[in-house]
Amino acid sequence: MKVSANFIPTLREVPADAVIVSHRLMFRAGMLRKLANGLFAYLPLGLRSFRKVENIIREEMDAIGSLEIKPTVVVPGEIWKESGRWETMGEGLLRVKNRLGADFVVSPTAEEAFTSLVRDELSSYRQLPLSLYQINTKYRDEIRPRYGVMRGREFVMKDAYSFHTDDESLDETYRKMGSAYRRIFKRCGLTVIPVKADSGAMGGSGSEEFMVESEVGDNTLLLCKACDYAANVEKAGCKPDYTVPASIEEAKAAATSVPAIEKIDTPHVKTIEELCGFLKTDAKKFIKTLIYKAVNVELDLNTAPGCSKLERKSPSPGAPAVYPAAFFAVAIRGDLDVNEVKLAALLKAGEVTLAADTDVERFTGAPVGFAGPVGLNSIPVIADETITALNDAVTGALEKDKHYQHAAYGRDFTPWLTADVRIVKAGDRCSVCGGELYEKKGNELGHIFKLGYKYTKSMNVSYLDEDGKSRTPTMGCYGIGLDRTLASVIEEHHDDAGIIWPLTIAPYHVIIVPIKYEGAVKTAADDLAAALERFGVEVLLDDRNERPGVKFNDADLLGIPYRVVVGDKNLSLPQPSVEVKWRSEKENRLVDVSKAAEELAGLVCAELEKLNS
Ligand code: ATP
Ligand code: MG
Repeated sequence: MKVSANFIPTLREVPADAVIVSHRLMFRAGMLRKLANGLFAYLPLGLRSFRKVENIIREEMDAIGSLEIKPTVVVPGEIWKESGRWETMGEGLLRVKNRLGADFVVSPTAEEAFTSLVRDELSSYRQLPLSLYQINTKYRDEIRPRYGVMRGREFVMKDAYSFHTDDESLDETYRKMGSAYRRIFKRCGLTVIPVKADSGAMGGSGSEEFMVESEVGDNTLLLCKACDYAANVEKAGCKPDYTVPASIEEAKAAATSVPAIEKIDTPHVKTIEELCGFLKTDAKKFIKTLIYKAVNVELDLNTAPGCSKLERKSPSPGAPAVYPAAFFAVAIRGDLDVNEVKLAALLKAGEVTLAADTDVERFTGAPVGFAGPVGLNSIPVIADETITALNDAVTGALEKDKHYQHAAYGRDFTPWLTADVRIVKAGDRCSVCGGELYEKKGNELGHIFKLGYKYTKSMNVSYLDEDGKSRTPTMGCYGIGLDRTLASVIEEHHDDAGIIWPLTIAPYHVIIVPIKYEGAVKTAADDLAAALERFGVEVLLDDRNERPGVKFNDADLLGIPYRVVVGDKNLSLPQPSVEVKWRSEKENRLVDVSKAAEELAGLVCAELEKLNS
């Protein structure tokens, strides 16, 4: 392919909003252009690399027996209403009406579409397990699209969905997906960190995210210095630095020697820091209590204090019943913070946010700053596990300018629920080996989940088992963002001059740069290109009438792995030669022009084999 016949509008300048390397280089190398905020067009060069990512993903999905299908991008709103996500997905879901007024969704993900397709065809256990995938356009009305295709509004995702009769079968597919993902990222030349992840709004348990380290990553990862533990902060746990009593009785017994709880005056003292100063103790002796509002809570609150009259309804006929809004108090050790993702997962809630001051006052009967678990009956109290080890604590007394001291868990208050809802930070101890945890920023490229019955139940999927009994299949889902994967390859492989493609993703394997495209040089360059192409090597021939310096700079910017310079001087050597250079190396090498095609083809093959193995 000749450069003059291609459409590679390289740029010297970068768009002002391009703050990360991949965004800048995709624009500068003429791979990508912007149509609108979060909407991008791949130009020919960009699309070639994009297709290579796509093919790798397709090969690895096919290799584990997942079957490709092609549903539509626009799907009926009806199925989103069945799953309940028409209500819970919020503004990120692009809803459209057709001319008849019927509701449609521009797919941001496709659990509903695949579940409904499978529902219509599934009758017998013999059809399971079934693993289906698509590589298709997604649309998410992201609030803040940024970093080019890293977070666009329209993007392409490979999404797979699997259906099973039992957990063992789901586990097997989940494991296979995990290893296919590792192979995909390796073949793309990416270093990924697989981390334990929260399953969030998707429901279910068991999930792994594939992260790449990134300064501008949206995710915080916690990694252990001593073992291979890695988790998203949303899910990360840590080894307790306290002893959890085996039971409430044991906690009570431990508190017998503690003085009776006592209300004290704490005038104008509200924050933990002020209290620490005032009482001359440390934040670890405080019980901090925060009031949260949760929406669409699926957890049963039947026995929860203050919840007997709460409204509970199904957002749509098949969907599980939820409490549209509920309030909770969360008690946690004073030096720690509440992890809202863990809290939302515990409550099976759509979202949790700190309650407004007026709500805090309504439930605690005191101004903000005096909440505490002792005597709080208006809403359920959720205690972080750390609280169970506190039997001589200071906490808000539900009264202006008053706190309790000597408050003991189990003796002076019993929470409705106890769970791990803390944010784990660098310096905390690894839950696996006790090593020190440290933080990294990361970007998520892929995600595998065990979904369980969330969609198959709400959307009424069933099959007949061996005994003719009707059963619900369990489900997994597995996604990879192609655009983000491609951009991440550039993030990992570049230098000041441009992209350094791994051969597997490079738009072309070899770029031929004739010093001047005429006469013997032109003939030699054309012959070499033709010979390479006969070997199956993908060649870009820079036939432009530009100065060599300009062509060299562009070759570096485009990042084509091998560069061959064809010039008069080397062609007139006793042994006519061309200069061969590997993009990541500085040194040129002279290669006999008559052997150049074979030698380069050998190098290309060997390198592809290495990356693909
Ligand atoms: P994020 O937390 O980054 O918004 P997500 O967890 O919502 O991502 P999933 O629903 O797990 O994403 O989607 C699977 C994959 O799709 C992600 O791992 C990512 O590679 C890709 N992806 C998601 N949102 C976008 C986006 N706005 N732009 C580009 N790729 C995206
Ligand atoms: Mg995700």
